[in-house]
Amino acid sequence: MIIQSKIHGFICTTAHPEGCFNAVEDQVKFVRSRKPVKGPVNVLVIGASTGYGLASRIVATFGAGAKTIGVFFEREANDKRTASPGWYNSAAFESLAHREGLYAKSLNGDAFSTEMKERAAELIRQDLKQVDLVIYSLASPRRKDPKTGQVYCSTLKPIGKPFEGKTVDAFRGEVKDVLIEPATEEEVANTVAVMGGEDWEMWIDFLAQQHLLAEGVKTVAYSYLGPELTHAIYKHGTIGKAKENLKASADKLTKRLMPLKGEALISVDKAVVTQASAAIPVVPLYIALLYKIMKEKGTHEGCIEQIYRLFIEHLYTSTPLERDADGFIRIDDREMQPDVQARIAAVWPQITTENLEQLADIKGYCDDFYRLFGFNIEGIDYERDVNPQVRIDSIQGVGTP
Ligand code: NAD
Repeated sequence: MIIQSKIHGFICTTAHPEGCFNAVEDQVKFVRSRKPVKGPVNVLVIGASTGYGLASRIVATFGAGAKTIGVFFEREANDKRTASPGWYNSAAFESLAHREGLYAKSLNGDAFSTEMKERAAELIRQDLKQVDLVIYSLASPRRKDPKTGQVYCSTLKPIGKPFEGKTVDAFRGEVKDVLIEPATEEEVANTVAVMGGEDWEMWIDFLAQQHLLAEGVKTVAYSYLGPELTHAIYKHGTIGKAKENLKASADKLTKRLMPLKGEALISVDKAVVTQASAAIPVVPLYIALLYKIMKEKGTHEGCIEQIYRLFIEHLYTSTPLERDADGFIRIDDREMQPDVQARIAAVWPQITTENLEQLADIKGYCDDFYRLFGFNIEGIDYERDVNPQVRIDSIQGVGTP
């Protein structure tokens, strides 16, 4: 199959296996070029195939030599369609780990279900005995409640009043005005049900009941706060409510993990291009501006640089950097530097379609977006026929150590 990118709105419906492989390998090389991380040992990553979860799995494996079990929900290729990028990433990740004799197994299916929790528990019991780090990095548009069967859909809307602002159609290079009506109470509740902390608590409680959490276990979920400019749609919007709920879950979990001397933490991460962030109005334009300024300052980071810092500066060091007043780990510190935010706030009102390329790194945004799907990767011949059917070692039983 000749695989080219096919973009519709903010999604790409194809992915390139070789491109994804190289993009994962680049992340591995980055981690390998840095000093090793002292821990963790046995890790469960929920949402392990793309974005921040994949970076977490890579840092744990190639930075610390940890054994990882990755859970994700991805699509395999068939005769007509390529696999999803997370499928190819996970195939690449496992093959790179296995090449070095490092343990890595994956489970593909709905992490919100009880069945998936049971499968993960069984695999931990059988192979690892216990885990000392659980990363919770799901980003999903819907969740089926495992107890009631009810399906909740999340929305990305303001709360209380309509939001009027700018956004970008990145691939057309057009800056547009958007008007988003406020969410109903039900939409807020549904978004909290999908992206809040209930499922995270279910995972941790389930693993604790089965004695699969090691003494001193850490569990980390990811959040975003961002500047004033994005507050109406993010921090004070439906997704922000879900993230408040996630924080409440962290506090509850930390109490419940006390007998194990464990801790549930939230890391506030930088805005980066992922499939999840591309779907949020306003955010892609903000990211394009942020990239320009941070690249100029030499402080730009992607998922892998962020998560490496999370591990080395916060989670596995004898002198962790301070948390903020609310107890959050802040690896968005460079994004939130006052001079960066002052420049963004000054440029924001001036941005139009005509000056977009000059004022924002829209090319960098699009490049990163293509890279998520294995496109625009150096050294790949996109005219060449490739086999879209790629195996994940541990799922299809080839070469598993
Ligand atoms: P992403 O879309 O790249 O990754 C989502 C992951 O969740 C994938 O591995 C996917 O397979 C998995 N997933 C989705 N639904 C699933 C299901 N039902 N069962 C099993 N797996 C499922 O997202 P991301 O941007 O890396 O986001 C991860 C976390 O980081 C989220 O909590 C997000 O809010 C947070 N975060 C993201 C940003 C950003 O700019 N992207 C910034 C700060 C925090």
